[in-house]
Amino acid sequence: MAALAPPVTQVLRRAFLRLAFLRSLHSAWQRWFLWLLLAVLVVVLLGTVVWLAGRHEVEQVQNALERDTADAVGDLRGGLQRNIQSLRASLAVGVDAERWPIEAAGLLREHREWLRLEWRNAAMQPLAAIDTPYRRRIFDDIERGAEQPDVALACTAARKLASPAYSSSHYVPMEPGGGLEVMELCLPVERGGYLVATYSLRDLLTELAAPTLSRGQEVSFTEADGTRLATIGAQRRTGTRVFTSQQLIDLPGAALMLRVDGWRAAPDVFPNLLTALVTAVSIALVSVLILLARDSRRRLRAEHDLAESLAFRKAMEDSVITGLRARDMQGRITYVNPAFCEMVGFTPEELMNASNEAPYWPTELAHEYQHRQAVRLAGGMPPREGFESVFMRKDGSRFPVLIFEAPLLNAQRMQTGWMSAFIDTSEQRRIEEISRASQERLQASARLATVGEMASLLSHELTQPLAAISSYANGSLNLLRAEHASAGNGEVAMAISRIAEQAERAGQVIRSVHDFVRRRDRTREAVAPQLLIEAVLPLVRLQARKLGVRVELQVEERLPNVLCDRTLVEQVLLNLARNGMQAMDMPGLGGRTLSLRVHRAHPIGGATSDARAWLEFAVADVGCGISAEVEARLFTPFFTTRPDGMGLGLSLCRTVVEQHGGVLLFAANQPRGTVFRFTLPAAAPIH
Ligand code: ADP
Repeated sequence: MAALAPPVTQVLRRAFLRLAFLRSLHSAWQRWFLWLLLAVLVVVLLGTVVWLAGRHEVEQVQNALERDTADAVGDLRGGLQRNIQSLRASLAVGVDAERWPIEAAGLLREHREWLRLEWRNAAMQPLAAIDTPYRRRIFDDIERGAEQPDVALACTAARKLASPAYSSSHYVPMEPGGGLEVMELCLPVERGGYLVATYSLRDLLTELAAPTLSRGQEVSFTEADGTRLATIGAQRRTGTRVFTSQQLIDLPGAALMLRVDGWRAAPDVFPNLLTALVTAVSIALVSVLILLARDSRRRLRAEHDLAESLAFRKAMEDSVITGLRARDMQGRITYVNPAFCEMVGFTPEELMNASNEAPYWPTELAHEYQHRQAVRLAGGMPPREGFESVFMRKDGSRFPVLIFEAPLLNAQRMQTGWMSAFIDTSEQRRIEEISRASQERLQASARLATVGEMASLLSHELTQPLAAISSYANGSLNLLRAEHASAGNGEVAMAISRIAEQAERAGQVIRSVHDFVRRRDRTREAVAPQLLIEAVLPLVRLQARKLGVRVELQVEERLPNVLCDRTLVEQVLLNLARNGMQAMDMPGLGGRTLSLRVHRAHPIGGATSDARAWLEFAVADVGCGISAEVEARLFTPFFTTRPDGMGLGLSLCRTVVEQHGGVLLFAANQPRGTVFRFTLPAAAPIH
């Protein structure tokens, strides 16, 4: 599971990053899409407005043209009607074929649209005819005989209708080239016959329609299929737009189409003020839009920068290992960083929703802290170098902290609260404690070294007196032996030999200690464990008798010899036995027994696992036992609970045992007391 953890976190992290990237892409795309939509809408709106304004303008022009055309048609009708009346008036009572041409000539001078006037009888034979003075004569009298089909058709229609009728237009070629489009009017007269007037369509337009039309227009008569019969007016200019209006002039016997073409110079983009205004407003709108977009971009960049700097600040606050806390002027917590929460074990919500009393104040110190807070809120400045305090974790454990406090100032340099930084000093304290302990150990070692020096000095100083005692004792013995043993001499000799033995032993002890202190190579010898016990037994028994202790021996049979520095091991045994007996030296304690046991053993604890056989020595008492406090410092040099103790015994014992490769351990004895056990290597492996 642990091996899987990193890839899973990596995958999650990668997925999270991709999600964030997609999300930012999505929101950026959304933003751009909105802007694009807005721009498209504005462009469409502008286009529509300009198009509508243009269309409105076109419609207005078209309508004006339609009106002009209608006016022209009205004028034409009116003119034609008036012409009929004038024609009819020319044939007043008393006018005959000789006089009529004079009347007709007068009419022709007034009416330039007429080319010719004829008076025909009922059989369509011309009685009189006269041509316009304004043009070269275009009709031949012979040609204009009774069979003139257009005239005949018009007159037939006129007779049928009993009112003036027109022929359809026809083309009259002229010499040397060109021709005219003409139309006949046939007017039946009361005394029989017809008056025929030939209209030039072109002159008809010039005389009757042109005055009402403006200069920028072209007027023409057309046939139903659009063929132009006669045209007057301005020629179309390039770069202009053409407007056309057509209207039918329904005349009796004929129908003519009046077409008016008007053109306006490039009215397409800004046809009038309204369009210009709309365009100007649109341009202003687009400019505002661009400015807005720029502003929004700046805002976005600022937002992005702000978010980045906020994220950086948050990352800093989150990764700093110093606890941070902000309080307002009422003492309420307004901010805590993760390091502070981790330090005290409360969540930010628990801390910020806390009452006046912070949850990390130890109950016994809350009163004092409240007072400190009151002083701070009243404006009391904390020491710059910080102060020490004790806080409580959520689990109730206390820990020391170093607090630095400073006023919290806002952008206007006004104090809005207090900012505090906390450093958990428990680790520092622990290190201080360790260093203090090692200092103590150093001092103890120094003292130990002094003791060693003293021991060395003492051993040196005592060697000679002891040697003297030994030689004097031996000398005395020799003297006693020489003077033949008498009754009392035997005991004196015994006592003196004991003195000599003990003096010898004391000398050995002193040499061993001297060697030990000087760290010389000690002499290891193979000794029977029984002998080691027996060597210390007299001294043990001496003290045991004094303290009323029974000494019990249990030595396993056929034990191998022990390879050791005999004197030092004897000292260890003696020391442990003495400690055991002293532990039983309590008033009222019965059954005082000290057991000395030797048996085969495997190496205890951390001893080497070589092929050597091991022997275990145990010294058990039924004394006061070892309490937990004493146990913690049992092997510390100079630790003792006895007023006359040196506190060096056990520490020396352990050093001696460990120098032999063994281990010294202790355990509670059942039902009471303590057992000290140590191992020593056998001289030869046990097979
Ligand atoms: P000293 O004998 O000079 O006090 P030691 O190093 O021999 O120094 O012993 C240190 C302390 O260990 C003793 O003062 C005693 O309190 C405790 N102690 C040693 N052996 C025993 C024991 N068998 N039972 C109870 N306490 C013991």
